[in-house]
Amino acid sequence: MELIHLGWGAEFEAAFLKFGQAGLEPARVAVQHRQAYGVYSQRGEVSAEISGRFRHETAVASDFPAVGDWVVIEHLPREAKCVIHAVLPRRTKFSRTAPGGVEEQVVAANIDDVALVASLTALNLRRLERYLALVWESGASPLVVLTKADLCADPEAAAATQQVCAVAGSVPVYAVSNETGAGLDELRTCLRPGRTLALLGPSGVGKSSLINRWWGEARLEVQPVRERDQKGRHTTTRRQLFCLPDGALVIDTPGMRELQLWEGVVGVEDAFADVAELARGCRFQDCRHETEPDCAVLQAVQDGALEQARLLSHRKLQREAAYQEQRHDKQAQAETKKRHRVIHKMARVIKRERDQE
Ligand code: GDP
Ligand code: ZN
Repeated sequence: MELIHLGWGAEFEAAFLKFGQAGLEPARVAVQHRQAYGVYSQRGEVSAEISGRFRHETAVASDFPAVGDWVVIEHLPREAKCVIHAVLPRRTKFSRTAPGGVEEQVVAANIDDVALVASLTALNLRRLERYLALVWESGASPLVVLTKADLCADPEAAAATQQVCAVAGSVPVYAVSNETGAGLDELRTCLRPGRTLALLGPSGVGKSSLINRWWGEARLEVQPVRERDQKGRHTTTRRQLFCLPDGALVIDTPGMRELQLWEGVVGVEDAFADVAELARGCRFQDCRHETEPDCAVLQAVQDGALEQARLLSHRKLQREAAYQEQRHDKQAQAETKKRHRVIHKMARVIKRERDQE
């Protein structure tokens, strides 16, 4: 497997240099098991475990490898496995606050695009806004995929798609059917060799079905629809990176019930660019669009140009993002320092050991 086909690039090359000199190899994390990781390397798919030192010196959960990460591995010729010594700096990452916790959980790393998948039969615009804010924050480009178009009459599907477009702004929206194949050709243009696309969305919306379509065969298990509500049951249990036959890289993720922002001040602004644009017409620059006079945003709500629910959603996400960032600020500064120390120390130690061999 050539690295370039796995999404390797110049930034990774530069970060890897010092490890390469020590005789180590790069690999990309495809799947995380309980104890080990499945990684793709130049030698193909191998099993890898975290080195004792890495485990010992890594205090922050989000510094452990996540699916999509580039890691530095050492082959143990006598054993059929590898050891992971380090994680290369992430180009992008999709994070959320771990459910019920206070830590960052990296859902997928080094992604170029994120497809937010939703079913046309069960749209939730507010949830979509939240997802969009998270994707904008990740550094990847969002797109929206609306599935199950075959279950809607054409005018209904068109109206729902229109509503989603209003929320999505500049983000491309595709309405498709995994059943009939409608719309899939157009969507396929989003898949490109060496590019990584993550699929995100609640379970049952058709993420696995979509990957099977892209694959051209039934690779992933698709659960039968429960008869009454036409929702699929929870099917995907694990995050996994796949290399599709045409060279595109796809990360499947399990449906996430809770999606709390981790960071998001920038992402929320990006996801609500229309509100920001309107706000330029407010009398006060720091208008909060609540009770201020001459507020262009409130005026837009009154005129029906902006949905009240969308404004409330913006406010809620803004507050959540501000709260999270404040909370992380101090923590993050300390962690960054620690990380740099650990990476440099690790590289030095490995190099020394290699030199002695
Ligand atoms: P996932 O949990 O998001 O991976 O969803 P699945 O791919 O497992 O699909 C859940 C259920 O929805 C399955 O029963 C699929 O057959 C069904 N399904 C997925 N996409 C479509 C679609 O476009 N149209 C219809 N009618 N059913 C679909
Ligand atoms: Zn205002």
